[in-house]
Amino acid sequence: MPRYDYDLFVIGAGSGGVRAARMSAGFGARVAIAEERHLGGTCVNVGCVPKKLLVYAARCSAEFEEAEGYGWSVGPAKFDWQRLIRNKNREIERLNGVYRKLLTNSGVTLFDDRATLVDEHTVSVGGRYNTAERILVATGGRPTIPDIPGNEHLISSNEAFFLDNLPKRALIVGGGYIAVEFAGIFNGLGVDTTLLYRGPLFLRGFDEEARRHLAGEMEKKGMTLRFAANLERVAKTDAELRTTLTDGSVLSTGLILAATGRAPNTSGLGLEQLGVALDHNRAIIVDEHYRSSVPSIYALGDVTHRLNLTPVALAEGMAVAKTLYGGRPTRVDYTGIPSCVFGQPNLATVGLTEEEARRQYAEIAVYVSRFTPMKQSLTGSDEKTFMKLLVDNASDRVIGAHMVGEDAGEIIQGIAIAMKAGATKAQFDATIGIHPTAAEEFVTMREPV
Ligand code: NDP
Repeated sequence: MPRYDYDLFVIGAGSGGVRAARMSAGFGARVAIAEERHLGGTCVNVGCVPKKLLVYAARCSAEFEEAEGYGWSVGPAKFDWQRLIRNKNREIERLNGVYRKLLTNSGVTLFDDRATLVDEHTVSVGGRYNTAERILVATGGRPTIPDIPGNEHLISSNEAFFLDNLPKRALIVGGGYIAVEFAGIFNGLGVDTTLLYRGPLFLRGFDEEARRHLAGEMEKKGMTLRFAANLERVAKTDAELRTTLTDGSVLSTGLILAATGRAPNTSGLGLEQLGVALDHNRAIIVDEHYRSSVPSIYALGDVTHRLNLTPVALAEGMAVAKTLYGGRPTRVDYTGIPSCVFGQPNLATVGLTEEEARRQYAEIAVYVSRFTPMKQSLTGSDEKTFMKLLVDNASDRVIGAHMVGEDAGEIIQGIAIAMKAGATKAQFDATIGIHPTAAEEFVTMREPV
């Protein structure tokens, strides 16, 4: 008789939890997983997937305009938000089903209920106790709302995916991924959109020149960017929400979306009672093998609040499964992780920013290109694409790549492979371009600035 009901009990069926559960079961472990909401977690239900679908929808309005330059006469365009949301919901339900099949087909026992920790080997699900040799907490995170008077009128990205109607005017608060992405979505769908960020320039931590370029392109598309101010209070009037900002000005909008960061889901799980150490953000502290301060309890993904990206959680889930049940101790390499802010346009990045590169290397070369994308040559648009490569002069290795422009995420993914392989600038230069593309610019930058 096995000592425990399961070898591994996973709490949370998001990207990281599902990957760890499936892979571990594939290695022969007896695995259970509990999920209180929808399968697939933030990414599938209120994150990456629905966000990207809304980004595609928002991009259409620019494409109708661009089509004119290519000889098309597009009649007055009409947009139906409810239809978009219905179609989006149907796709998400399909994906929830795919996740269910993936789990059950790999032999994982699935509980559609909330799980809490009872002791270091026991999980309670709907009042029933299940024992496991190891417990993996993969409960993700949730949006935070600023603590200001009237914050009950604010929504988070969770609700933005299910609005009944689009407002005429929207205020988006924050300067991170979610704020920039939703500003592009609302603006592209015809909403008069203002992005409010408390610092001097949004996307803190990204390459400064790329951030400035993106700000300029967003303004060209009609978004209003207000930096160096924050929410002070919000009041509801009959028709709209009146927001007083810290600089004394007042804005009236139909919606205020707080995109002001996310917090790990560690409350009410019983972690503190068991002595699982949390950091100042209340994230679970883990070692390089995702083990918490309680040896039988592991954690990965957003609940550890490090790099809150789906592909990172997937890699961590894989590493946990391989280490614990695959006989191959595996660590995730956190260097050179590319990412993309799916704004209008995209800002994608891999490696160091120019600011970081200057601090870390004695001498660097900076290659920058700004150009009108060929697609816009007949459209009359003044859109400009921005690309930057950073090179360590001593080794000639490319140490940073940044792009602001259409499909930047698609392009930087390939550059990230080259950089992972340690490509030098000479190797970029020796690579023949694909003509005519925007991406070929990355292999034809000859003169450093
Ligand atoms: P981020 O942590 O990226 O950004 C939060 C923003 O809100 C920052 O600009 C921050 O300002 C600001 N902020 C924080 N607190 C307040 C406050 N009280 N008042 C006003 N502004 C405030 O969070 P997001 O919510 O945008 O996204 C969460 C995470 O999810 C991301 O970091 C990313 O890891 C992930 N994500 C990834 C995506 C992708 O890969 N495309 C898409 C969406 C999310 P300051 O800079 O001054 O601290």
